[in-house]
Amino acid sequence: MFTCKYCSTEFLEHKPNCPNCGAPIKVSENNPKTGEPRSIREVCTKYEGTKNLHMDETIDARRMTNMRNSFNIPTNETVIMLYDDTIFGSNKVGFAICSGGLYWKNDWSVDTKRTFLNWEAFTQREIGLDGYHIVLGRGDTIGMAGVGDEQARQQILTMLREIKAILQ
Ligand SMILES: [Zn+2]
Repeated sequence: MFTCKYCSTEFLEHKPNCPNCGAPIKVSENNPKTGEPRSIREVCTKYEGTKNLHMDETIDARRMTNMRNSFNIPTNETVIMLYDDTIFGSNKVGFAICSGGLYWKNDWSVDTKRTFLNWEAFTQREIGLDGYHIVLGRGDTIGMAGVGDEQARQQILTMLREIKAILQ
């Protein structure tokens, strides 16, 4: 059994690319330690209970549309998990973990150079917390004041570092 580490699709025969999302599949990736997350989706599932995080199956159509429009997520991109930074749940500010990378949208108070990083670029970055913001280096910042909870911010930071670790 092979598992795509980007979208968690499972397939029996080795293929050079994932039949669902097209990500390259390496044979060596498929000898995981039991119980360890093997894909971005599996890491996200571990953190599903964290405040303001929503797995794709639990995002209704209105939220999904708001998020895709305000984060500029291409229609062919698969959304795995959403972080909603808004107090009233409009999903117009926050970030989305997708098969192709990380997309985000800040409110007016948080400057960022980019609003998208593909996973390859993401694995090159040091991920840290600076007050209420996730800092990714090179001028890239994701606002996270809306979660209003230091413990949740730490959990989200840990989740992003785990994603980085499985992709390396
Ligand atoms: Zn895939």
